[in-house]
Amino acid sequence: MRATMLLIPTLKEDPADADIVSHRLMLRAGMIRRVAAGIYTWLPLGLRVIRKIEAIVREEMNRIGAQELLLPFVQPADLWKETGRWDVMGPEMLRVHDRHGRGFSLSPTHEEIITDLFRKEVHSYKQLPLNLYQINLKFRDERRPRFGVMRAREFIMKDAYSFDLDQQSFDTTYAAVHGAYSRILTRVGVDFRAVLADTGNIGGSTSHEFHVLADSGEDRIAFASESDYAANLEKAEALAPPLPRPDPTRELERVPTPDIKTIADLAEFLSVATSQTVKTLIVAGEDGPIALVLRGDHELNEVKAGHLDGVAQPFRFATDAEIEGTLGCAPGSLGPVASSLPLYVDRSAFAVADFICGANEDDVHLCGVNWDRDLQVDTDRVVDLRNVCEGDPSPDGHGTLSLKRGIEVGHIFQLGTHYTALMQAEVLDENGVSRNPVMGCYGLGITRLVAGVIEQRHDDAGIIWPPSVAPFSVHILGLNYAKSKRVQDVAEELYHACLAQGWDVLLDDRDERPGAKFADADLIGIPHRLVIGDRNLKNDQIEYRNRAGTATVLIDRAAVTEHLVAAIASNEAG
Ligand code: ATP
Ligand code: MG
Repeated sequence: MRATMLLIPTLKEDPADADIVSHRLMLRAGMIRRVAAGIYTWLPLGLRVIRKIEAIVREEMNRIGAQELLLPFVQPADLWKETGRWDVMGPEMLRVHDRHGRGFSLSPTHEEIITDLFRKEVHSYKQLPLNLYQINLKFRDERRPRFGVMRAREFIMKDAYSFDLDQQSFDTTYAAVHGAYSRILTRVGVDFRAVLADTGNIGGSTSHEFHVLADSGEDRIAFASESDYAANLEKAEALAPPLPRPDPTRELERVPTPDIKTIADLAEFLSVATSQTVKTLIVAGEDGPIALVLRGDHELNEVKAGHLDGVAQPFRFATDAEIEGTLGCAPGSLGPVASSLPLYVDRSAFAVADFICGANEDDVHLCGVNWDRDLQVDTDRVVDLRNVCEGDPSPDGHGTLSLKRGIEVGHIFQLGTHYTALMQAEVLDENGVSRNPVMGCYGLGITRLVAGVIEQRHDDAGIIWPPSVAPFSVHILGLNYAKSKRVQDVAEELYHACLAQGWDVLLDDRDERPGAKFADADLIGIPHRLVIGDRNLKNDQIEYRNRAGTATVLIDRAAVTEHLVAAIASNEAG
């Protein structure tokens, strides 16, 4: 391609409204433009990257025997009503009506559509296992679209749906997709981790997310130092604290604590560590408020709390009015002793002896409180409720946990027979018995992955594309192009030599200053660069630079193709 024929509207200045590197660089490199909140146009350069990633995804999905199809983006409400999700999906699903007043959704996901296809077309176990995928638009009316295409409203996803006769066969399918995802992300060239993830409310115990590691990631993931345990913070557990708990050494005591509002203030006022205190959080339950008790220095894990019996869906904290209405004291004064509310106690809080907590009375705390002696809790109410912390012991007993940030680019998930049962998708097994197949679903955010790559692969000057997904492989810069016939001739010659090799090549044939050409080349980050200028041509030489390296080298004009063949091969190997 010739730069003069392409629309690559690069920007010299950082755009004001872009908070993270990938968003800034995608705007500056002329890859995307915002149309509305969370809705973007992909310009030619950006689309090229999407297509490169899609090609890798297709190869790896096809390799495990998945088949590509294309499902509609506009889905009839009737299918969503069959599974009850027309009501459950909430405002993230955008609903529209046609001229006849019939309801439709702009696809946030495709389980209903695919299960409908399956029940109409597949009737025998002999047709299983079946894994179908598409690369298609999704629309989710995100509450807070942000970070450019990272959390967009309209985005491209590869989504796959598998059908197996039984759990054992499903396990093989799931492992195959896990392998395909690992190969895809390795080939794309990102540093990633597969981590255990929360399975939500739809059956199955296993779910994995694939995270690109980056400080800008919205998710936190926990890793063990001496094993391969890795989990999303939503799901991560620390080893349960050792039992038995130390014996009580103090008597229960009421202590006035005027104007003490926070755990930190309380610990300072009483000269104890925050880990010696216990806090009580009140959440909405199905039948009124529920108290959750954690160590003062620990953070509640809302996903874990949301799974507890009796806790309202979706999870929410009780309002101050609800708390005062029921308990007659301010939230900062709550405590578990003689509480009238149903309690859940975090395992770590349950392991503390002689603790300090609110007295359910303003400006008073209880000290020297001990479980069993001063208050009883059933063992089935002692649960894991907290976020793990840096340095916690790993749940498998191997080493400690550390936390990093990640960008979730993929999620693979067991659906069990949830949808096949709800939508009566059945096949006959080898004994002629009707069965609901076991389903899996597998998402991979193509457009989010583009941003994820940039989060990892950039420097101050711009993007550094991994060769596998770069919009072009070779960038030829002709200096003083408009004036020098010699530069034009050599650039043309090399351009055609590169095309003949089958490489994607961009020729910068614009009438721009060398400085502007170099700045744009750094910004758009094409892996291999050739610079053609009159000065080096006097010696019949061309300058070569690899965007990921620093040094430039001079090569003889006659040896350019040979040099590039070697450079491209060694890049691909690396
Ligand atoms: P998140 O927790 O980030 O909202 P999710 O759990 O809703 O993600 P899935 O429904 O599992 O996501 O979708 C599969 C993949 O689609 C995600 O792993 C992600 O890569 C991509 N994805 C989801 N939401 C968005 C979005 N708003 N913008 C861009 N990509 C997205
Ligand atoms: Mg989401």
